[in-house]
Amino acid sequence: MDCIFCKIVAGEAPARIVYRDDLLTAFQDVHPAAPVHILIVPNRHIATLNDLTPADESWSGHLLEAARQIAAAQGLTGYRLVLNVGADGGQSVFHLHLHLLGGGRLRSHLGLG
Ligand code: 5GP
Ligand code: ZN
Repeated sequence: MDCIFCKIVAGEAPARIVYRDDLLTAFQDVHPAAPVHILIVPNRHIATLNDLTPADESWSGHLLEAARQIAAAQGLTGYRLVLNVGADGGQSVFHLHLHLLGGGRLRSHLGLG
C-alpha cells in the first residue's frame, strides 16, 4: 500500500517526529497551518475514523490523552484538535490523523468556506 503516513511510521519517509508509543506516532505537519501543527496517527493503517469499531473505544481515549501530553510538552496553553473524516470532511490523506494546532490565538472559525 502506498500510504505516506505508513511510510513515516515505518521510518521509510522523513518527518520531524515529536512523540511515539506502541500505538501512535506524532510528527510535524509539512505545511503548518499554525506555529505548532502536529499530526497524531495510529501506527497501523486505519483509513478514517469511520473504520474504527466499538472495540477501538479505548484506543480513542489513548489518542486524546496523547494529544494532551504532546500539547503540554510543546508548552501550549491553548490548542485545537481537528479530525477530518472523509473527503466531505476535508480529509486528504486517508490514514487517520488528529491535527494538533496551537502556538497563537486561534480564530474561532469552523465550518464551510
Ligand atoms: P487532512 O486534510 O487529510 O486532514 O490533512 C492532511 C495533512 O497532512 C495536511 O495538513 C498536510 O499538510 C499533511 N501532509 C501531507 N503529506 C505530508 C507529508 O508527506 N508529511 C507531513 N509531515 N505532512 C503531510
Ligand atoms: Zn497508512
